[in-house]
Amino acid sequence: MKTRRVDLVVIGGGPAGLAAALAAKEKGVEDILIVERNHRLGGILDQCIHEGFGIEVFGEALTGPEYAQRYINKILDSGIKYLTDSMVLNLSPDRRVLVASPAGLMNLKAGAVVLAMGCRERTRGNIAVPGSRPAGIYTAGCAQNFINLQNYMVGKDVLILGSGDIGLIMARRLALEGARVHGVVEVLPYSSGLPRNVRQCLVDYDIPLYLGHTVTGIKGLGRVESVSIAEVDDGWNPVKGTEREIGCDTLLLSVGLIPENELSRGAGIVLNPLTGGPLVDENMQTSLAGVFACGNVLQVHDLVDWVTVEAENAGSKAAEYVKGVGWSECCVRVKPGSGVRYVVPNRISHQSNAELFLRVNCPGRNKKIVYRGKKVLGEVPLARVNPAEMIKLSLGDINLDGVMDLEVSLEDE
Ligand SMILES: Cc1cc2nc3c(=O)[nH]c(=O)nc-3n(C[C@H](O)[C@H](O)[C@H](O)COP(=O)(O)OP(=O)(O)OC[C@H]3O[C@@H](n4cnc5c(N)ncnc54)[C@H](O)[C@@H]3O)c2cc1C
Repeated sequence: MKTRRVDLVVIGGGPAGLAAALAAKEKGVEDILIVERNHRLGGILDQCIHEGFGIEVFGEALTGPEYAQRYINKILDSGIKYLTDSMVLNLSPDRRVLVASPAGLMNLKAGAVVLAMGCRERTRGNIAVPGSRPAGIYTAGCAQNFINLQNYMVGKDVLILGSGDIGLIMARRLALEGARVHGVVEVLPYSSGLPRNVRQCLVDYDIPLYLGHTVTGIKGLGRVESVSIAEVDDGWNPVKGTEREIGCDTLLLSVGLIPENELSRGAGIVLNPLTGGPLVDENMQTSLAGVFACGNVLQVHDLVDWVTVEAENAGSKAAEYVKGVGWSECCVRVKPGSGVRYVVPNRISHQSNAELFLRVNCPGRNKKIVYRGKKVLGEVPLARVNPAEMIKLSLGDINLDGVMDLEVSLEDE
C-alpha cells in the first residue's frame, strides 16, 4: 500500500474536528484531511434536534443540526477535504494513519494529527445493573438516534436511570412523543445534568426526579415488564425496605460518557485517569509530539460552544506545529486540588495566559477558585458551582515565575 503525505489529518468530523480544521486552514495550512466514519459530517449534533447550542459562540439558541451546518458550510466554502464513511483503524507513534474508506485501505503520513473522535455512552455492562436481559433497555443516546433520525419509537412506559443531560433531554423528548415517563432515577443527591435541563425537561413536564435512588432489578422475559428502584445510602448501597417496583416497558440508561481513546491508547499516548482523555499541554498537544486533542475525546463537555473554542486552539496550534513555529516549554504542572475533579490543560508555560477548563466535585454557593504555587497566586469568586457545568477560566495576568506546580482548588469565599 502506498503512503500518502498529508500536512494535517483530523480524526473525526464532529464539531471539534470541523472547528480544528477551519482554524488550521486560517493559519495557512492548505493540505488538510478530515476523516469521519459516519455518512455525513456533524458528529453527535445530527441527532440533537432540541435547541440550546451556540448561545456562547453565536448568541443564539440553535438546534444541534443547525449548529453543525454552520461549520459544515464553512468547510465546504474553505475547500478543506474530507472523507465520510471512512474510519481510522490505527494511529502509530510516528503519525501514520491507517484509514478504511469506500475506496479501500489508505496509509497516510501526517505532519500533525488532531484527535477529535468524541465519546461513547456507558452501557448496562459498564454499571452492572442486576436483573434479566429482556428487550427494551437502551442507552439514552441510542434511543435518541432511533427517535430523531430513524423515526422509531422506543417504548410507551419509560423509566430513565441517570440524570445526565442526555437522560433529561430524552425524558422530555419521549414525553412529547406521547410516552409515559415514570421518572428519572439518580444515585447522587443532585442531578448530574445542567440545571436548565432539569427545569426545562423535567419540572416543566411534571416528570419526577428520584435523587439518591438506583435501579435494583429488571423483570421481563421478552420485553421489560417492570423495574425496581430503591433509595441508596452514602455508599450507594440500596436501603432495605425502600424498594418499589415500577411497571414499564423501557429503561433508558444515561450513566456517563467515555472518551473514545482506543486510537490514542494504541499510539502510546498518555491518558488522564480523571478525564479518560489524553493529558495535554496548553497547546492541546498530547504526550506524542505533533498529535493534538480536543472536544469530547479530551474531556466530556456539556456545551458544544466550549468544544468549538477548545478545538480552534488545537487546530491553530497543530498548524503552528506543521509550520515549525516554536513554543515556550510547558514545564508548569497543573493539578486539581481539593474540591476540583479535574483541570485541562495539564501543563502550561511560565508565560501562560491559558484558558483552564475544570469541573468541581459537588454543587455549592459562594465559593472561589484558588490558584496556588508555593503560595496563593490568585483567586476567582464564583457565586454558584455545579459538577454538571464545566468552568472555563482564563489565567489572565497571574505571575507563574518560578512555579513548577500550579494547584487549582475550590474553597469557601
Ligand atoms: C444528547 C446530547 C445532548 C446535548 N445537548 C447539548 C446542548 O443542548 N447544548 C450544547 O451546547 N451541547 C450539547 N451537547 C454536547 C455536544 O453535542 C457535544 O459536546 C459535542 O457534539 C462534542 O463534539 P465532538 O466533535 O467532540 O464529538 P462528536 O460530536 O461525538 O464527534 C466525534 C466524531 O468522530 C467520529 N469518529 C470517532 N472515531 C472515529 C474514527 N476512528 N475514525 C473516523 N471518525 C471517527 C464520530 O463518528 C463522530 O462523528 C449534547 C450532547 C448530547 C449527546
